Amino acid sequence: MITRARREGGEWVLDGGKRWIGLASIADIAVIWAKTDEGLRGFLVPTDTPGFTATPIQPKLSMRASVQCDIELAGVRLPENAVLPGAIGLKGPFSCLNEARYGIAWGAVGAARDCFDQALAYALARSQFDRPLAGFQLTQQKLVNWALEIQKGQLLALHLGRLKDAGRLQHHMISAAKLNNTRMAIEIAREARTVLGGNGITLEYSPLRHANNLESVRTYEGTDEVHTLILGQHITGLSAFRG
Ligand SMILES: Cc1cc2nc3c(=O)[nH]c(=O)nc-3n(C[C@H](O)[C@H](O)[C@H](O)COP(=O)(O)OP(=O)(O)OC[C@H]3O[C@@H](n4cnc5c(N)ncnc54)[C@H](O)[C@@H]3O)c2cc1C
Repeated sequence: MITRARREGGEWVLDGGKRWIGLASIADIAVIWAKTDEGLRGFLVPTDTPGFTATPIQPKLSMRASVQCDIELAGVRLPENAVLPGAIGLKGPFSCLNEARYGIAWGAVGAARDCFDQALAYALARSQFDRPLAGFQLTQQKLVNWALEIQKGQLLALHLGRLKDAGRLQHHMISAAKLNNTRMAIEIAREARTVLGGNGITLEYSPLRHANNLESVRTYEGTDEVHTLILGQHITGLSAFRG
């Protein structure tokens, strides 16, 4: 984290930046986490504040319908009350990450289900060698494997939801679901594309689009590697994040 905030004459002054900030060029308000002398703090920053710039990152091969930006904060001055009062230390950003990562565990299942539905419909409609593709054993094996993985991922997300409702959800459980369900969905998206043959590379069908977008999902809200390290630490009691 390179963004820092300091108090000056009854105001906060922010300097720094962050890459890959979703929707920053069209948002009215940015939530900025910054290091201060009092520890990590969160700030609400109107994006028209002098010194705040957001530059869209282009071109991209994933998440093309959305915009992510490089943001820069150069002497951004904010009133005292721009700071989030209850969020001090890493607890603030980590609680946001837990919510978003839990949501991704469900979202990935949705993407995989859409790929499954499209591939099944196509396999039933398209005939080769005088029978629907869905009638070939190799196609059925793909569909069955996907159905098993989707159902397992869905049950995992459902179980986490119930633990969340009961106030018993822990961050390493969310890592397991984010890692597993994103990995599951990207594999199904790539394989579902094969059932569509050449048509699978057109924009008419969603699996390749999902596969490309899931490359981003795999990276944001904790990469595969970072969630693996979180789980490795939980299992062994040893942190492998450094060295
Ligand atoms: C489409 C998109 C939207 C995003 N939206 C937002 C957003 O709205 N807000 C926001 O703050 N961020 C956002 N991000 C940023 C995202 O969270 C980061 O890209 C992600 O955390 C990875 O950081 P990095 O790109 O700096 O990669 P790096 O940290 O440079 O990592 C590169 C590779 O090295 C691996 N690696 C890093 N450290 C270790 C280690 N200790 N051991 C083993 N491997 C390691 C990583 O897993 C990865 O595979 C977004 C990114 C994308 C692509």
